[in-house]
Amino acid sequence: MLRSFFLYLSQAVWAKDVMMHIGLARRTAYRFVAGDTLEEASAVARRLNQRGLEVTLDHLGESVISEVDARQAADDYLELLDAIAADNIRATVSLKLTQLGLDIRDDLCLDNMRRILERAGDTGCHVTIDMESSAYTEKTLHVFRALRRDHGFDNVGVVIQAYLYRSEEDMRALAAEGAYVRLCKGAYDEPVDCAFQDKADVDANFVHLVQQFLNPDACQAGAYLGIATHDERMIRAAQAFVKAHNVPHANFEFQMLYGIRPKLQQQIHDDGYRMRLYVPYGTQWYPYFMRRLAERPANVWFFVSNFFRR
Ligand SMILES: Cc1cc2nc3c(=O)[nH]c(=O)nc-3n(C[C@H](O)[C@H](O)[C@H](O)COP(=O)(O)OP(=O)(O)OC[C@H]3O[C@@H](n4cnc5c(N)ncnc54)[C@H](O)[C@@H]3O)c2cc1C
Repeated sequence: MLRSFFLYLSQAVWAKDVMMHIGLARRTAYRFVAGDTLEEASAVARRLNQRGLEVTLDHLGESVISEVDARQAADDYLELLDAIAADNIRATVSLKLTQLGLDIRDDLCLDNMRRILERAGDTGCHVTIDMESSAYTEKTLHVFRALRRDHGFDNVGVVIQAYLYRSEEDMRALAAEGAYVRLCKGAYDEPVDCAFQDKADVDANFVHLVQQFLNPDACQAGAYLGIATHDERMIRAAQAFVKAHNVPHANFEFQMLYGIRPKLQQQIHDDGYRMRLYVPYGTQWYPYFMRRLAERPANVWFFVSNFFRR
């Protein structure tokens, strides 16, 4: 209920206008966001690298409706890629296709992605396409495959959400293609006709998809899995599986969001696993922040109690 309400707010323009002017909302959001600027994000990424953690940098933005803004978003990513290379930061980048014009025209989005992947190729960087709501799943996978198959980019990955029924089939195909996949539970409000509604079902599917994907043939074909969760039960299940089946560490890593369970992040790294943090930055923090509130009621109470304590 609370989850659905915050996911509704994440899309509501009136709520965005109100929240972005509340100083406390902004300060609370910055628990999950590295800062407004590329310089602030680079500083956070460098600090994480020094602690042995890998990073993926995300310049926040989504649901762009003007061509100018979509091209500007791509230019911002080119600047980010140059900064990663210039500052020797160990980082990949993550982005959303609706930030690059998917809601405007497919060819605009593809063109922006091509520019980004070419620059990423020049600087030796990898790019992961985040997955948005189920309205975009098919289109996102289509763009991902077009970039790999038709344009020959091998430095691009995509996200799959364990709450979708279709993910088993998608993961099977992506494993056979030797793709780079980040598996997460899923952060949007999805209807019963396409997604599991019970957390227990989502969790069971998450574990199943990890095991299905990390099979010897897929690993041989170069498939790579980002196991993106803060859920210790998912993490322990994945660790038990990779140990039992001798899955090479070169074929997977763990991933978490900046600002969530930092002790567990460090522990996973200290236990000898590759651990990557998703570090978002930029002024468009509102929908990202709302999704983080939706995931965990305690975040909402933290925000509300601070609001009334002022
Ligand atoms: C690296 C990364 C990339 C992601 N990319 C995408 C994407 O492209 N598309 C997409 O739909 N979703 C994405 N997500 C979000 C994901 O789908 C989940 O919504 C989110 O990770 C919460 O699920 P969980 O696996 O942590 O498990 P949950 O069962 O939700 O949480 C397990 C535990 O983690 C902690 N926790 C989880 N969320 C929070 C929070 N917000 N604040 C504080 N503690 C928390 C709590 O201790 C909780 O008990 C991504 C997540 C990660 C880690």
